[in-house]
Amino acid sequence: MSATIIDGKALAAKVREEVAAEVAELGHVGLATVLVGDDPASDVYIRGKQKAAQAVGIDARDVRLPADTPEDELLALLAGLNADDAVDGILVQLPLPSQITEAKAIETIDPGKDVDGFHPLNAGLLYLGRPALVPGTPLGIMRMLEEYEVEIAGARAVVVGRSNIVGKPMAHLLLQAHATVTICHSRTEDLERHTLDADILVAAVGRLHVIGAEMVKAGATVIDVGMNRTDDGLFGDVDPGAMERAAYMTPVPGGVGPMTIAMVLKNTVTAARTRRGLVSSAS
Ligand code: NDP
Repeated sequence: MSATIIDGKALAAKVREEVAAEVAELGHVGLATVLVGDDPASDVYIRGKQKAAQAVGIDARDVRLPADTPEDELLALLAGLNADDAVDGILVQLPLPSQITEAKAIETIDPGKDVDGFHPLNAGLLYLGRPALVPGTPLGIMRMLEEYEVEIAGARAVVVGRSNIVGKPMAHLLLQAHATVTICHSRTEDLERHTLDADILVAAVGRLHVIGAEMVKAGATVIDVGMNRTDDGLFGDVDPGAMERAAYMTPVPGGVGPMTIAMVLKNTVTAARTRRGLVSSAS
């Protein structure tokens, strides 16, 4: 048996089409991306987000600040974007230079415009099961599971990784969808004991093939968030040999990655609708 591949690229294209239709309906949707400094990887991410936003008709503003920008200048700029009615979504590219406290920058963004879903208010709403704006990666994974009709209610879900941007929000979304959730991390003893129990396994670690094929339960759904760059290319956290055991599995590349940007665009539309009073909350 070989797993059905969860085609993140195709699904992301579908999400972008939905977003484009919603943008056309709303008339104007604005997104401001903010990049401080000239880190080449961050520049690639920002250009990708800008291109994707423009392609769906979002009015995307590309704000660039020098690497030595003082913290109060960034905070003042964010306050200006908060007050700007033409801006529905604000996204600050991380990491930020060391003179700026990331938490301060994130907390300055209006939670209603926080399309990355990193603001403590949005994290708190998610914890309470009242999601407003949810981080794009876990949101995209939920959409993948829905699209491939993976049964979540009652399933045993194991999330490996407990970061604020992937692991924790992922676990909360799965819990909200009635899975029985286990969160594993670097101090977890006998990881395999947990992963072998998983009907749904999400690997968000950032270590090449940390999940061996033998650690995957037969018939499981495997979501590989990991992005590990090597001289031979981009690889995930899960050994591709797991394809022979899993029922569904995301490839790397072409799985979770493309969905993340698409869901940030979706969040921008959600923010725009909510600001116009068209929805009270969304996920
Ligand atoms: P972090 O480094 O913030 O978190 C990694 C997590 O993995 C931590 O909770 C850590 O545990 C845990 N961990 C580390 N080593 C092990 C181990 N040996 N066994 C079990 N758990 C372990 O990473 P992110 O959550 O930001 O990202 C994870 C991966 O996902 C990265 O490869 C990143 O590039 C990728 N990513 C991909 C995205 C996409 O769109 N495809 C988006 C975001 C991230 P502890 O907390 O104890 O340190």
